[in-house]
Amino acid sequence: MTLEDKLEEMKVSRKWQSEQGSGTASKDSDVCPKCGGSGWIPYEQDGMLFAKECDCRESDLMSRRLSFANIPDTFKDKELKTLKTSVYATTDGKQKFLTACNIVKRYIDNFDDMLEAGMGLYIVSRTKGSGKTRMAASIANELVKKHKKQVKFAVSTRILDEIRSTWKKDSEYAESRLIDQLCLADVLIIDDFGVERISPWVQEKFYNIINERYIHKKVTIYTSNVPIEELNYEDRITSRIKEVSYLMEFPEESVRDLIAKQHNKEMLEKLAEEAKGRSAGKSILT
Ligand SMILES: [Zn+2]
Repeated sequence: MTLEDKLEEMKVSRKWQSEQGSGTASKDSDVCPKCGGSGWIPYEQDGMLFAKECDCRESDLMSRRLSFANIPDTFKDKELKTLKTSVYATTDGKQKFLTACNIVKRYIDNFDDMLEAGMGLYIVSRTKGSGKTRMAASIANELVKKHKKQVKFAVSTRILDEIRSTWKKDSEYAESRLIDQLCLADVLIIDDFGVERISPWVQEKFYNIINERYIHKKVTIYTSNVPIEELNYEDRITSRIKEVSYLMEFPEESVRDLIAKQHNKEMLEKLAEEAKGRSAGKSILT
């Protein structure tokens, strides 16, 4: 089929759709009403047929990137600008958090250079619930949505569980496909690194992933309760991590409860705003 035939076909199908009553098909399904799902909008100019990209192509790509990234639900909408110093009670905590924010800002502003050099981050504090995961997820969202990067978010113990679970399925093939995904993503976020029970097998698996990413200069961002030099991993692993990570110390303060309260407040405000929007819409219509 030539491009011209294809365009003609799309035009006919669009005409058919509009004759069926505009929007009825699209309301019931996820098909884009502008292009009928083809991603292209045909148009005529000087008697010739052309096609331009539909807006839905970009949002389609974005939703695929977001689903690949697999950011935990709690952190799906978290943005860097919503992170607040006020959740930390101590002066030291506030100071560390501010320094961390400055590092992140510079890191993201220069992200293309970071990507080229394969430089990642090691976000560390011994205290659980200090906001490390939230920070990592906010970075992930920023990189997916604004920088349009392919990001993969994975908790370290889940990585190992998933590798084990592939054994039941198609054994070697499924395992290597999973490892490929972890090795090839532009950015891999390994959350809670260092809590896993370390066996020779675990050493081997993480060495494969970390070394592969190191060789190909892929960016890896870690969150951990364990400083790099105290990790129970072999030198060949920790030295690679050290070499390609900027250290980012996080406050030694748990803010999980405070942040949960803040989430609830944000949620309630959002609902109130939506309700206000709805009633405003109504008053215009009636
Ligand atoms: Zn479209």
